[in-house]
Amino acid sequence: MLTIDIPACSDGELALAISLLTEERERRAREASAAEKAALARKFKRDTRCPHCGSPLDRDGSRPDKARMYLCPTCKIASSDSTGTSLSSSKLGVGKIRDIVTLVVMDCPDWVIAHIVGVNIKTAQYWADRCLDAAVAWSKESKLSKHFWFDEMRFAPTRASGLEGGVWTTYAGKIAKDAYMEVAFDRSGGFCHVFYEKLGTPSRDMILGAFEGRVEPGSKATHDGASSHNLMIKKLGLRDDWHKFVAGDEEYEDAMRLMSNCCSYIRHAFESHPGIKYGKLEAYANFFLYRWMHVRKHGLAATVDYLIGRIFGTPKSHLFDDYGRKNEIWSRK
Ligand SMILES: [Zn+2]
Repeated sequence: MLTIDIPACSDGELALAISLLTEERERRAREASAAEKAALARKFKRDTRCPHCGSPLDRDGSRPDKARMYLCPTCKIASSDSTGTSLSSSKLGVGKIRDIVTLVVMDCPDWVIAHIVGVNIKTAQYWADRCLDAAVAWSKESKLSKHFWFDEMRFAPTRASGLEGGVWTTYAGKIAKDAYMEVAFDRSGGFCHVFYEKLGTPSRDMILGAFEGRVEPGSKATHDGASSHNLMIKKLGLRDDWHKFVAGDEEYEDAMRLMSNCCSYIRHAFESHPGIKYGKLEAYANFFLYRWMHVRKHGLAATVDYLIGRIFGTPKSHLFDDYGRKNEIWSRK
């Protein structure tokens, strides 16, 4: 048992004791945090293959923090459960990550998150981007089936802004008006697809392109019967459940209620995020769709838990590079 006669200590001895104890406490906290993160990375891992070449991996022991190590039989590169995920490069403890993600889900700006949690703004932004990654991965895994709803949503200038310096300003920043986005969801998943290739109403081929490979044939498609939808419904072998738009019509409103609710929600969510980069519109839309679907079903706390699980299991993406390229194509027009 360690005993120190504290009143008898000199100031120098006291300072030394305090620094030794603090150091030891911090070391233990780091160790516990690393072990907790290793366990979470393993629990939520979604792809068990080699992060470098995609081959099935061989176990190769454990690190001191109990993270499992693997050796790839093909490319011979070693990896752990957290390789490539946001956990591998973060020094934050799980508690702080959870606090940040909770505030991101609650639409807090980065500087507010930074202030409340006690991290810098870049760190808050980093985790907000990981939330987007997770939502995008979720939407990519969603394959619509049984019964789904869809419609195109138009990004229009907000009432507060409009034409400024010859450029239309929207809640998405300086973009031309008339960007369109496909919004589609069933009971368990969904996706938003921004038509980056062209502004204005999407053609029937663009709509078909947005859905190809993302719907089970034979599913029931509920929509407003726009003629640009027909090609997609036919080519993908869907059951057509269309409702002619008549303002105030009960039958139409009943059938389309979920869709209208979803679009209003997404629109409202964009309004509380002014200044989103054009290239990030789709990622944010998927994040809002993810939140709408999960909060409705499971409440806010469970939504945060699911999202954190997804973040821990989703490789950190480079996907904003893709958006950047799309953005370039767009700006050359
Ligand atoms: Zn490999």
